[in-house]
Amino acid sequence: MFKFWTVSVIFVFSYFIKSHECMKYSNYTLYRGMPVNEKHLEFFRNLSDMYDVNFWTPPGNLNKPVDFTIKPEDQAGFLKKADENGIYLSTIMRDIQRAFDKQTVRSYIRRNMESFNWQSYFRFKDIHNWLIDLQKMYPKELQLIEIGKSAEGRKMIAVKIILIGSKRRSTVIVEGGIHAREWISPAFVTFMIYKTITAPKSNDKEWKAVALTYEWYFLPVVNPDGYEYSHTEDRLWRKNRNDPSVDINRNFDTAFGTIGVSFQHQSDTYCGKHAFSEPEAMAMANFIKQRSKSLEYYISFHSYGQYMIIPYAHLTTHEDNYDEMKEIGKQVEKKISRRFNTKYLVGTAYDTVGYRTSGVSGCWVKKEFRVPYVLTFELRDDGESGFALPPEQILPTCQETMDGMKTLLTPRVARFQKLGPPDRLIDCQSRIVSNTIITICNMCLFLIVRFY
Ligand SMILES: [Zn+2]
Repeated sequence: MFKFWTVSVIFVFSYFIKSHECMKYSNYTLYRGMPVNEKHLEFFRNLSDMYDVNFWTPPGNLNKPVDFTIKPEDQAGFLKKADENGIYLSTIMRDIQRAFDKQTVRSYIRRNMESFNWQSYFRFKDIHNWLIDLQKMYPKELQLIEIGKSAEGRKMIAVKIILIGSKRRSTVIVEGGIHAREWISPAFVTFMIYKTITAPKSNDKEWKAVALTYEWYFLPVVNPDGYEYSHTEDRLWRKNRNDPSVDINRNFDTAFGTIGVSFQHQSDTYCGKHAFSEPEAMAMANFIKQRSKSLEYYISFHSYGQYMIIPYAHLTTHEDNYDEMKEIGKQVEKKISRRFNTKYLVGTAYDTVGYRTSGVSGCWVKKEFRVPYVLTFELRDDGESGFALPPEQILPTCQETMDGMKTLLTPRVARFQKLGPPDRLIDCQSRIVSNTIITICNMCLFLIVRFY
């Protein structure tokens, strides 16, 4: 009898464990396609109608790579079709699950700061606990603020740092983890938090000077539900965990729902019913708004591709202080490449990744609050591992990106200044003025001709 019960319990338990197993991507192959004509682009755009495709880089412009995975049973059919259409194709990874298995995830041991590092990835709870312990270590300089709750009720945490002796010239907000599967993003933001809070005792004079210049806010994981889901259920999860799930970085109120989004619930870029329909986007917006007066820098971190993206993501034109941003971006790029020769491309989304998008957080911040320095980083790598970035690359990525932060955040004007009104608004106003003058002149001319 005892044996029967033991076997039954083990059976039920193992079934339970099995039914909660993470989705496996064994023998899913990562391909890179290069569309060189319109027909090729059309082929990639229609790919998900034919096969179960997961785009790591969606089709954009001609000659911009398209990275995607195809499930094993679809591969033979897909390769045949690609060949018939003359598609240029290379295999990046034969089996992505093998690369995911190498992405070690470690646990943080409470009050043992050494057990949190940048040689492994960490779960949300561990990042949170590490931050709580960091707050206990630096109670005068570091505070945790709960800015809201995610769709599944997880805390959305902001880390506020004002170092003793800080000039508090203006505010910097650093955003991470809006897309669940881009694990290097929260990893970098935690590294930046650590470097900032330890700056006064560090030998790094350049960073120390920068750290003492600002009031800092870090949002290391703004999509905690999605991040957890990408650890426990589906490594390639991108959106939040609302029902239906939404791409938080398409949910902001800048050109909402106009380009580079989908209105299909199952799509990876579903933008939601309306702008700020998602609790995560709403919490971020409220938090940013409260600090917008002195906000000088808004920096967001994504992966992958090694791009520095300047607003606005929905436009092909270069707006506001684009030229200044491009120049700064080039300097940052130079600084980053000095350490490990990592190359970045600088420009708008259209110029760099090759596609346009809307409802993006940084664009909203720049447009709404006229924040002068807004930049989105697509961190390592350039496609070799993509989202499966091996843990041995976490620390080098963090180090080189911190080099870039020093250049980006060194003040280049004496006093913090907001951007002026948008160019097109000025155009519009001056057009009204000149039209009024022309009308008055015409009326005068008419009166002179009529009565003389
Ligand atoms: Zn992203």
